[in-house]
Amino acid sequence: MTEADTTPGSQSALRQANERRVVDVLRRDGTRTQAELARATGLSAASVSNIVRGLRAAGTVVVRDTSSNGRRARAVSLLRPPGTVVAVDFTADHIRVALGDSAGTMTSHESVGYDVAADASRAVRRAAWLAETLLIAARIDLGTVSSVVASIPGPLDPDTGEVGEISALPRWSGFRPAQALSERLALPVRAENDANLAVLAERERGVAQGAEHVIHLLLSEGVGAGVVVAGNLFRGAGGTAGEVGHIGLDSRGQVCRCGNRGCLETFVGSSYLLNMLPRHTDLARGSDPVRLSDLVDAALNGDPGCRRIIDEAGTALGQGAAIMANLFNPDRVVVGGELARAGEFLLGPMRRAMELGTLGSALSRLDLLPSALGDQAMLYGALRMAARSAG
Ligand SMILES: [Zn+2]
Repeated sequence: MTEADTTPGSQSALRQANERRVVDVLRRDGTRTQAELARATGLSAASVSNIVRGLRAAGTVVVRDTSSNGRRARAVSLLRPPGTVVAVDFTADHIRVALGDSAGTMTSHESVGYDVAADASRAVRRAAWLAETLLIAARIDLGTVSSVVASIPGPLDPDTGEVGEISALPRWSGFRPAQALSERLALPVRAENDANLAVLAERERGVAQGAEHVIHLLLSEGVGAGVVVAGNLFRGAGGTAGEVGHIGLDSRGQVCRCGNRGCLETFVGSSYLLNMLPRHTDLARGSDPVRLSDLVDAALNGDPGCRRIIDEAGTALGQGAAIMANLFNPDRVVVGGELARAGEFLLGPMRRAMELGTLGSALSRLDLLPSALGDQAMLYGALRMAARSAG
């Protein structure tokens, strides 16, 4: 892709593009004088001088006096190798951003509570601001970022990059998050489904290391799955593989947002679980809206009603996971997301339901495990994906 394709035509975008040309030369050729940089980039000496001053202020380059052909010159070197990667994780109520090095190892991260579900464009602007703030704090110039990957809690059309109709962010339907964030940051951005990134992360450094066939169930507003078959992410033809939330469990159950009845999501989705809260409990009577994290905390603290709700969710999840296990014969099933914090209160009934519903031969090689990376899994996965695409 050329510079003109990735940057809008504003002055600051032009400056960023020119900065990147200078950094690219330094990356390729090592230390260069300003005169050599001007020749290599085709920029004027005055422009190079300006750009170098900005890069020096941002901590991207160091400048020292030297001589070239007997004349005084200014030698410019990169202070750190470029190749910073950025991960952005959108959930319905949070934006998380992380920076990583060229190997995808996290170097810093930040999280803000934000009503992401309300407005896609505003959430993207907020995420871009958060990424720029982190980069400034780390003294890394935006122009040296090689790749950005954004985690989206919903299916993405592989051709258009549009968020699907049925996701945790209904108002994002038809929105193109990668394109919007790319226009905002003037950087290449790729968007990926959150459960897909979580399964990549668990295989790299979590509980699915060494596993070739993995199903990662991610529980939040709904339930999604990242599916790895024979070591490769399985997205399906239209990017909706792993939408396990709409496995039908009860033809007389509640009507789901997808239009069917009794989908798995109506047994484990956060809004359904919160609706089941007994009205008389302290939790339901409080003035603040009750969130899934409150329900999990109450269960961990011994609230019998909350434990019952999570127990039944575990059973339904086990029934859905058994169907997946019979279809894919995975060696690991990993459970992540907020609800997974309930630990054995969720996994115990889930394991029992899986034992009942899974073929013996599939069950004998299967481990059911809680996520090792928790709510950081999507950031880890996004950083690794960004590092790979940059390399
Ligand atoms: Zn459904």
